[in-house]
Amino acid sequence: MQLLDGRVASAAIKDILKKQVAERKEKGLKTPHLAAILVGHNGASETYVASKVKNCAETGFQSTLIRMEDSVSEQLLLEQIKALNSNDDIDGILVQLPLPAHISEAKVIETIDPSKDVDGFHPVNVGKMVQGLETFISATPLGVMLLLEHYNIPTAGKHAVVIGRSNIVGRPMSILLSGQLAYGNCTVTVCHSKTPDLESFTQKADIIIAALGKPGFLKKGMIKDGCIVIDVGITRVEDKTKKSGFAIKGDVDFDNVAPKSSWISPVPGGVGLMTIGGLLKNTMEACVRRERRNP
Ligand code: NAP
Repeated sequence: MQLLDGRVASAAIKDILKKQVAERKEKGLKTPHLAAILVGHNGASETYVASKVKNCAETGFQSTLIRMEDSVSEQLLLEQIKALNSNDDIDGILVQLPLPAHISEAKVIETIDPSKDVDGFHPVNVGKMVQGLETFISATPLGVMLLLEHYNIPTAGKHAVVIGRSNIVGRPMSILLSGQLAYGNCTVTVCHSKTPDLESFTQKADIIIAALGKPGFLKKGMIKDGCIVIDVGITRVEDKTKKSGFAIKGDVDFDNVAPKSSWISPVPGGVGLMTIGGLLKNTMEACVRRERRNP
């Protein structure tokens, strides 16, 4: 078993980006600038946004965090996004999900200018991804692809099983793995909560992407020997031994699955860090593309 180590792979991405930022500064070009909107005080969202801001600073990017109360109206949030859309200094915009129930996530996503949608959630960007056109690929599936690339895992002709079909992880993941890409060309099966006898699919898989949000779901008996296992799950599970009161758990029963796998990503220290790498890469790309459009 070998580790698909998100710490190592994301550090390598950040190193490249850091160098690019330094070169840009030397040439008098703009520093990439990410704006993040955080609505409310959800503990997990606070942690994710804080980590994104910290990683921007470590990579030499500029970031702006805009906080809004849970009670903010949908209209006010949409106006804030429009202001960022027309602000020439902002290259990338993200609105941390989930949002309070009175705000439509779909409307919020569709209000972000697709050319600044570094989370890759806008329907225009999703459509372009499906067609293999230049776009922003949503940060988590992009992070998984970058992890495969970093460890040079051959994927062509492999049978990949993606567990989960959400718009932000499972669905784009299945499209990328089946695409004509350097780390694509898989035959992909997408499983979800209505899939009967899910084990009959996972037991035949060469690659499994677990993205369902059920801690420890994928057990040793569900995989074949030598399977490549990528764990996207992040769930906070109560743990009184931790200062925070919780532990972060993935969707894979790591201790028992790892010895049977050929490659496996841990949680924490796996896809979560790669998601940030994907987001930073998209932000740099947004900055460069804007320069190309407005030389
Ligand atoms: P989601 O929107 O809740 O989607 C979960 C998917 O899993 C759904 O398609 C659901 O099927 C499927 N599912 C649920 N229970 C299942 C079961 N017992 N068997 C088979 N499929 C099942 O979640 P998400 O946003 O995709 O996130 C998935 C996990 O990834 C979560 O733990 C989340 O925290 C984590 N995540 C991590 C990152 C990262 O950076 N590492 C980023 C985003 C999300 P139905 O469609 O039938 O309901």
